[in-house]
Amino acid sequence: MKSIPKIFLKSIVLLLVLCILTGCSRQPVSYTATDIAMGTVLNQTVYTTGEDETGNITELVRSLERDTLSWRVSDSEIAGLNASQAGIPMSLSEELWEDLLLLQEVSKQSGGAFDFTLGTLTGLWNIDAQAQSDHEEIRIPTEEEIARALENSGYDKVLLKDGCITLEGGIQLDLGAAGKGIACDRIGDYLKGTNITGAVISVGGSVITYGGKPDGSPWQVGIVNPEDTSRLLGTFSLTGEWYISTSGDYERYIEVDGIRYHHILDPTSGYPAQSNLRSVTVIAKSGALSDALSTACFVLGQEEGMALAAYFNAETVFVDKEGNLYLSEGIKDIFRQTAE
Ligand code: AMP
Ligand code: MG
Repeated sequence: MKSIPKIFLKSIVLLLVLCILTGCSRQPVSYTATDIAMGTVLNQTVYTTGEDETGNITELVRSLERDTLSWRVSDSEIAGLNASQAGIPMSLSEELWEDLLLLQEVSKQSGGAFDFTLGTLTGLWNIDAQAQSDHEEIRIPTEEEIARALENSGYDKVLLKDGCITLEGGIQLDLGAAGKGIACDRIGDYLKGTNITGAVISVGGSVITYGGKPDGSPWQVGIVNPEDTSRLLGTFSLTGEWYISTSGDYERYIEVDGIRYHHILDPTSGYPAQSNLRSVTVIAKSGALSDALSTACFVLGQEEGMALAAYFNAETVFVDKEGNLYLSEGIKDIFRQTAE
């Protein structure tokens, strides 16, 4: 047998030593992607030692909308429930069962400020579609219509038992206030089975931060300035897995005779919430929770909203119409306000 040249052997030894010193691991590579999913913008920055997973994540969010949450797509799970006969228990997929249990709890604890049964009312206002349509077609519902829609809503008209849901007559589920946060939860579950070492992904107004950056620096998550959405009021530094959701009156609205009708409705009045707020941001350990709470807090206003979020161990930032910022105690140290 021919002997291996010395120089070659030395190289192998050197490589082995280097490999041991560096752990032989691949350095994470970053991938970014921007897509439309769930009727909103899906932005991804992902660090991974494996393949580019951004396409899979986009498909995950799209299929969640298509198969489970959408009330527009007739064969989604929610649309099926809305079309089902009242009073008959309908079995739920395991994930939706877990989500609805949480949403019912937020509905209860918020005294109905967040309510996942507002489908008839939100359909009546139809702010999403109206905001995109020709101004001349805009229509504000009448008081009678609103009163009737409110009669057909109420989280207490929903029974969740043994993995099944039973709806009273007229109830239409609308998970729009929590859907993007639920998408972040599903993304979080997915990331745990991949080689992704860090990610920051936003689905409209809901964001998940996960893992870390290769250089060890924290994620920066911004709070949009409601007066000028191209600017930030400030940023949070976060490390590890967090879920951040914002509800604001600037996100989707219509204007008639100088009055702004935005998309966050007060279930007590049936009209857009008037709580002297421009936006609420909630930071929590689950996306469904942060998203549902951001809507609830917007309806309740700063004082009651902060107490509600504290009950769920979530942190908050409220921005009022005068541009004042109110931060909960736990995040004051990680927030940096933008210089004027
Ligand atoms: P978000 O932007 O997360 O605050 O969610 C707003 C969306 O949730 C709206 O477009 C409606 O579909 C729905 N919605 C509006 N008001 C409420 C409310 N008080 N509780 C639950 N869902 C609501
Ligand atoms: Mg929300």
